[in-house]
Amino acid sequence: MNGRVPGRVAALAVAVPLGLGLATAPAASAAAVTTLYYSSSGAPDYLAQIDRGAANWNAAVTDVKLVQRATGATIVFHEVHSGGSYTSTDGHGRGQIYLDTSQVAEGYDPTRIAAHELGHNLGLPDHYSGPCTELMSGHGPGTACKNAKPSAAEAAKVQSLWVNGVAAGAQTRAVAH
Ligand SMILES: [Zn+2]
Repeated sequence: MNGRVPGRVAALAVAVPLGLGLATAPAASAAAVTTLYYSSSGAPDYLAQIDRGAANWNAAVTDVKLVQRATGATIVFHEVHSGGSYTSTDGHGRGQIYLDTSQVAEGYDPTRIAAHELGHNLGLPDHYSGPCTELMSGHGPGTACKNAKPSAAEAAKVQSLWVNGVAAGAQTRAVAH
């Protein structure tokens, strides 16, 4: 929420050529679903909110699916008590997410925070000047904003980023860097 996003999510805009020279059988055009596992046990006060945030993404996109799992998760939630909520992520489905209880105490909606930080892990950058209807406007619209669902444009962006299973490439990048 505070823009501390070490992962260079902006780099995700790299275009991937689609369908060049590929067979056009209908089955081949059906996008594979990339499943990302997240663990929430490190943020015990927000288990339901994290699940709701993930469910909101799952309802909005079909190329990538978020599933809670205690072990082997590539997206790991933690709870902190100061400094603001943030994530350290490669923007390709791997990251650490820190939810700040003091922000929730200030009135920021924890489901919106969780969904916002998941958005970074799915490849979206911050857009603080955006309206409440956008997740990635984060704290910009203020504490009155309780929206925890991505806008149509945000969902479309994530859908496009994951159409070819970006996560597979992300793992290579993580090892390389
Ligand atoms: Zn953010």
